[in-house]
Amino acid sequence: MNRVPIISQSDEYQDDEHNSNNINPSKKDSTTAPESLAPTTASEPFSTPLEKKGSEEDLLLRPTRMVDMVGQQEVYARIEIAVHAAKKRGEPLGHILFDGPPGLGKTTFATCIPKELGVSYQIGNGATLRAPKDIVPYLTNAEEGSILFIDEIHRMQKTVEEFLYPAMEDFRIDLTLGEGVNARTLNIQLKPFTLIGATTRTGLISAPLRDRFQMREHLDFYTIEELSEIIRRNAHKLRVQINEQAAFEIASRSRGTPRLANNRLRWVRDFADAKANGQITLLVAQDALEMQGIDTLGLDPQDRKYLDTILRVFNGGPVGVEAVAHTINIAPDTLVDEVEPFLLRSELVIRTPRGRRITTKGLVHMGADPSKYDCSSPYNKDPYSDGPARLF
Ligand code: ADP
Repeated sequence: MNRVPIISQSDEYQDDEHNSNNINPSKKDSTTAPESLAPTTASEPFSTPLEKKGSEEDLLLRPTRMVDMVGQQEVYARIEIAVHAAKKRGEPLGHILFDGPPGLGKTTFATCIPKELGVSYQIGNGATLRAPKDIVPYLTNAEEGSILFIDEIHRMQKTVEEFLYPAMEDFRIDLTLGEGVNARTLNIQLKPFTLIGATTRTGLISAPLRDRFQMREHLDFYTIEELSEIIRRNAHKLRVQINEQAAFEIASRSRGTPRLANNRLRWVRDFADAKANGQITLLVAQDALEMQGIDTLGLDPQDRKYLDTILRVFNGGPVGVEAVAHTINIAPDTLVDEVEPFLLRSELVIRTPRGRRITTKGLVHMGADPSKYDCSSPYNKDPYSDGPARLF
């Protein structure tokens, strides 16, 4: 029996009407850094092994200057002012804490800021900082005015956190050498540096640590227009042709998240290479995303499994996140950090004092009949009786 080739160029995609306004990847990008943000010194940030965490393509797509970043206008404007002021005064930038769901640009901000300041930076991860000795090399290596970026800072151990307080406030650390009666304390003066922390969970950051950051910035989901812009720029970097409608389609199915927009774009590019002469049109984008199980709202199979479990197993909720997590065999942290933020933001589910509950919008999206479920607001109902709502 002859096997049909899995990958074949299809005529279906050859003559797409939307192909008229192709974005030409050979066009030169006109974006340049404004005068105000040009680095004052020529020193290039040195890279640490941890920095090499992404693939080469990830590095290609990540903006390297703030001016190349799209969206987050308010955060951008405040950071721009702080950077400008620090450069003018010749002082280190105040410590900054970024929070928000994964993939929204915390690391991108943290790696662009040192370039604007013209200083070096180091990258650490809270999960690997288990004892004060783990953070000492970062602190003692920090150059004058440099940036120390700690990703997932909420995962840092309490002892490390407490060890950091004097480093953040007075740029000094107190090391204890030896044990018992021979123990002595060594006071080390550090060069003034800036700590940039990133977290997906501000709630897990203790108040004393939070208060030591001069700026706290929350990154929110991107609009479809902003993601379309990111997709068009990145298609250009990947040297692939895409039209406006296709960029918009991928953007609207990217859950407001640049990292997902990049992942979806790369998949659609591969699909287009295999099936459509490498050109990304609306039809190519739709078929490629459908093949990955990404629906019109951008929900992937895992998102839909979460909604389907609340709907089918827990009759629409309310249900505790742990119960849902165990039923679908996913770590509760993954649900809370990665799956729920967009579903909550899109009002497909709500959080109630008694757990998660699917909304009418969620039911409709999942093809369920809202009249069969009680999705009235739990705040309107007394959970202990069928009588009218009790206010207090
Ligand atoms: P986080 O640290 O919040 O998890 P990242 O900064 O690693 O997210 O962002 C993931 C990817 O998304 C980056 O590599 C970059 O390509 C893209 N990205 C993030 N923010 C922006 C932005 N504002 N403009 C353009 N691309 C962005």
